[in-house]
Order: sequence, then structure tokens, then C-alpha cells
Amino acid sequence: MLNPNVHYGDLQESYLFYNIGQKVQAYLDAHPGAKLYRMGIGDVSLPLCDTVIKALHEAVDDQAVKERFHGYMPECGAPFLREAIAAHYARRGVELDADEVFVSSGASDELGDILDLFSRDAAALVMEPAYPAYVDANVMAGRRIVHLAAGKENGFLPAPDNSLDADIFYICSPNNPTGAVFSREQLQAWVDFANHKGAVILFDAAYEAFIEEPGLPHSIFELEGARTCAIEICSLSKTAGFTGTRLGYTILPKTLECGGMSLYAMWVRNRTTKTNGVSYILQKGGAAVFTKEGQRQVMANLQVYKNNAKILMRAMEELGIWYCGGKNAPYIWLKCPGGMDSWQFFDHLLNEIQVVGTPGEGFGACGKGYFRFSTFGSPEDTEEAAKRLVALLK
Ligand code: PLP
Repeated sequence: MLNPNVHYGDLQESYLFYNIGQKVQAYLDAHPGAKLYRMGIGDVSLPLCDTVIKALHEAVDDQAVKERFHGYMPECGAPFLREAIAAHYARRGVELDADEVFVSSGASDELGDILDLFSRDAAALVMEPAYPAYVDANVMAGRRIVHLAAGKENGFLPAPDNSLDADIFYICSPNNPTGAVFSREQLQAWVDFANHKGAVILFDAAYEAFIEEPGLPHSIFELEGARTCAIEICSLSKTAGFTGTRLGYTILPKTLECGGMSLYAMWVRNRTTKTNGVSYILQKGGAAVFTKEGQRQVMANLQVYKNNAKILMRAMEELGIWYCGGKNAPYIWLKCPGGMDSWQFFDHLLNEIQVVGTPGEGFGACGKGYFRFSTFGSPEDTEEAAKRLVALLK
């Protein structure tokens, strides 16, 4: 008899976005036509930049011409895109072989798929509050999860300690949901610890492009020793507005081994078995992001979100509310004022000023009493929401 993967039964129901949706709908039913200020969801609002659109159109035209048509693409990525990404890293002082760059359909896919490389007996360390997929992807495989709670006392940037008994470490910096970013020294401590333990770091760099403070690491491969303990998973979703277009990349060094086996060779084998590559059209669009003009246009879009963050940070400061993030990340993570819990604060904002955010406890137990604002909305809505927040909470 065929048995299902019983570990799916161990998944906790994720009520977060469902509950938010229900509450928002109930409000709209009671107040038809009400305007809401949505600062909950981490999806972008600006369209793809012109350089990317032009490259996508050109690639579509290529597919119409026999001499320029592309069928199956190389499973691990088109050389033109792998080289463009490696050159982008080189400009930042990180030397990679182009074939250490694996083109993907996005970070979510990779965060799940990469776990194929590790034993199901391995334990995964998740620093919480965290992007929920880290826990769920491991629970589905039956892995033990070690929850490492972060808090205000360590700026939501926990340090390693010898009592942590895990083999796969998730590090997300800049972090979703807290917006906190590891310094070079803090990240080096994790790299040293992983090398010491023989663990592998899965470094989620989905928000690296938001870093503006000089000296903060964009890539884990800026740190000494990372090539023997880390895999970097990155995405064009937030950097270049590809949330609906879908493109990402993973850096897996040839020097990375586990139990005497080359994780690099295993990943090549995995990709060539389980994928048939990412579409030529999308990879052409992705390559445009790494051109000089592409970078200029992408950064101009990010500046819009960064300005939104400034508006919200100013409001938090005026209100004397503790927060982190915002400066090098598109999220602002705040302590709910007046002793409210996350859902009370959610209801208060929705009912009184029609502002929608995300309750912190959706990202792990230690997010209780916290709240996340995303800065991906329009400047007009963000400005109005900030005004309403100040008026309500002052
Ligand atoms: N990692 C983090 C931390 C995220 O917040 C997200 C999306 O919100 C992803 C990964 C997924 O990115 P992608 O759109 O490339 O699947």
C-alpha cells in the first residue's frame, strides 16, 4: 500500500495571511468602498524597468526567428546570465566561477529544492522571527527544527553558541520580517561556527540590494571561510520587481563538501535531473538587470521604496515607538505600542485608520507583540498611512 509523506501532517496551519484576508474582507463588507492602506504584503508595486522590458521583448522576437530561436536551455542556467551574475559579484570583490552560479525560478523554489542535498536526519536551525518557508520545507521532510529566538536585546541578530545542535543554518540578511542586517563581524562568527561544526549555512540574500550602509555584507562570500560552509540563495523578485516574472539564482561553491561528497557535483546532478532550465526569455530579462543601465534603473525603483521606509521611520520616531529595519531593508519591525498584542494592534489600525500591516507572531512565537510594515506600497499611500498613524497613536 502506498503511504503518503506523513510529515505533511506535522505542518502547523498558517493562519497569518488567511486571517488577515478574512479580517480585511469583513471590514470591507461592513464599509463598502473603503480605501485601505495596504502595508502588509511583501510584494512590489512598481513595474519592471525599461531595460528589462526591452530585453524581454527582444528575446520574444528571437523566439520567432529560426536562427535566433532557443529550445531547451542549459539546466543550470544560460552562460550569458551566469557570467553576468559572476561579473556583478566580481565588481563587489567576490570572485566566483560563472558555473558556481545556478539560475533558478526564484528563491522560494530553491529554498525547498536545495534540501534534497541533505540527510533527513539533519537538523535545521531557524532564527526567528523568520520567513515561514524555512520551517515548513524542513517539516515536510521530517527534519528536526532548532528554533533560535531573536529579540530586541540582540537587535534581532542572534549570535552562535556552542549549545546549538543543528546542521543546516538559515540566515536571512537583510531579514524578513525584522529588516535587521548582520554586520561583517556578526556574520563572520556564524561562518566560523558553521565551519567548526561541519554545518552548512543557507544564506538568503533576497533583500541584499536594499543595503545602503557601506561595510555591511551583501553576500556571505564576502567573508573568509564561506566557500567551505555556505550556499547563497538570491532572487530578482525584490531587487528588480520579478515577483510575478520569476527569476533567481543560487551560488554554490565548488569547494563545498559534506561528509566527503561534493555538494557542487550533487547540485549539478540534481538540477540536470529535476529541471530543464529556466526560459530563455526570462534569462535575457534577468541579464538586463546586471547591465550598467539595468542597475541604474533598478536602483532608482528601489529608491522609491527606500523613501517610503524613511516616511514610516520618521513616523515611528515621532511616536517614540521602538523599531528596527527600514534603513537597509524594505521592512520595518516595530514593538506594538500601549501593550497591545500583534492582532489587537492589527485590528486597531484596520478599524481606526484603515492601515493594514502584518502581525509579528505570524513569523514565529517570539514575534508576539511585534508588527511588520512593508515599504513596497505607493509613496502617496505610505505618506497618508504615516499621517494617520501619527494622528492615531500620538
Ligand atoms: N526569501 C525571503 C526572505 C523572502 O521574503 C521571499 C519572498 O518574500 C523569498 C525568499 C522568495 O522569493 P522569490 O520570489 O524569489 O521566490
